[in-house]
Amino acid sequence: MKNEKGLDITEKAYWVDKGQDMIRDRQRRINRAKNWKFDTVATHGLYDLQQALDYNNGSIMEPVYLSPAQAYHNSAEMEAGLAYEMPNWCYSRIANPSSYFLEETAALLETYGTSIEAGCIATSSGMSAIRTATDPFLVYDSRYPKPNIVTSAKVYGGTFQQFSVRRHQEEGIEVRWVTDPANPEDWASKIDDNTRFVYGEFPSNPSLSIFDIEKVADIAHKHGIPLIVDSTCASPALTRPITRGADIVVHSASKVIGASGTSICGLLIAKKNIPSKVGCDNMRSDFATWTKFWPFRDNGPNINPMAAIMILNDLRTLRMRVAQMSRTTMTVARFLENHPKVGKVNYPGLESFADKDIARKYMSLVDDGEPLFGHMLSIELKEKTPDDSRNARKFYDNLHMIWRATDLGRVKTVATLNAISTHQQQGEEGRKLADIKASTCRISCGVEDPVDIISDLSRALDTI
Ligand SMILES: *Cc1c(COP(=O)(O)O)cnc(C)c1O
Repeated sequence: MKNEKGLDITEKAYWVDKGQDMIRDRQRRINRAKNWKFDTVATHGLYDLQQALDYNNGSIMEPVYLSPAQAYHNSAEMEAGLAYEMPNWCYSRIANPSSYFLEETAALLETYGTSIEAGCIATSSGMSAIRTATDPFLVYDSRYPKPNIVTSAKVYGGTFQQFSVRRHQEEGIEVRWVTDPANPEDWASKIDDNTRFVYGEFPSNPSLSIFDIEKVADIAHKHGIPLIVDSTCASPALTRPITRGADIVVHSASKVIGASGTSICGLLIAKKNIPSKVGCDNMRSDFATWTKFWPFRDNGPNINPMAAIMILNDLRTLRMRVAQMSRTTMTVARFLENHPKVGKVNYPGLESFADKDIARKYMSLVDDGEPLFGHMLSIELKEKTPDDSRNARKFYDNLHMIWRATDLGRVKTVATLNAISTHQQQGEEGRKLADIKASTCRISCGVEDPVDIISDLSRALDTI
């Protein structure tokens, strides 16, 4: 059998040509989605009626192929597929139709409102997304024998451990902590010729620290290195760091993106043509695709198709959830700020927030512009001494409706005492660096009515 160009189905060229058609078709669907509003992109992504009828029995929902592998018509198609010369999903460790639709939607949302093109890799967890995003920059290169990384000290506890234990203690990579991320000078002064990337969290979990993404990106780019931003707690509904100069964004999609709480998942989104002193040209030109085809394939941090589809289902309603959760959190923050038992409330939406100008510059509801600041706040309870946590524990142990758990971004309100949970393992010194007090309590507001959240907080505070 020959196609209209005379290529025979038994030749690899036939399949490579078919692959070109598939790539053009994908690009057409990307271009169409680039003209849609955020909620429409989130709802449809690249999956449309034609695809449903051609490949998926007309199902209005994306496929969930639990199968580990794809079958091929013949050896020529297999050869083209495995050489990455045509789009295919060969084996689910590398690609799968369910993760494909999640990845394409996430890349579109993270670059929403711009013509920037990005690629995405869905991973088994947020931590594996961070590992996958940073590994390729830390390869051995004889020109730069001693790699270092420059990162905000105000990062998620797991990230702090990945950098300080796995990277520094075990691999000998120097980690230079930026303790005042809102000050661009602090970043600039820590970068040298051996710095491989710059890393920050926006806003940070749980201290809500932020930084000027554009300024820090400029500093990194002057040194020829990328800025990687963990944007878990803002989500693309509020902040899209790639559209403000960042090169790579990582998410723990286990959090607000997957707010229903059915799976653990990470996302890595990279724009095309990123700077890096090390690695190959293909890595720089399309980091996400290159990483997926090579180190990701060899290391195996892939998401499973069931998790991918559950995260995709939640991603569709991200904007409306983030809007409601953020408005509720603002109400709760104001209540807590006026409460006599509470010493300090960290929330970017409050007038008392030190870096509120940076927050306003970067955080607002997409397609609407309403200044909104996310679902996470943290408080420090008033205690007799700075190291004391007795009041915080009493308050915490007396919550009734609000869940005591190390969780975040959930549709259900959750409270966490960070010094004994998320940031326990990094020890006293590490907590000081990250500004986590013994009495710090992180509150992640869900979609309940704020009246009921406040009444539970109020009653628990009255027990102190
Ligand atoms: C939870 C979290 C992570 C880790 O994600 P997992 O999906 O739990 O592996 C990374 N960064 C931030 C900001 C987080 O809140």
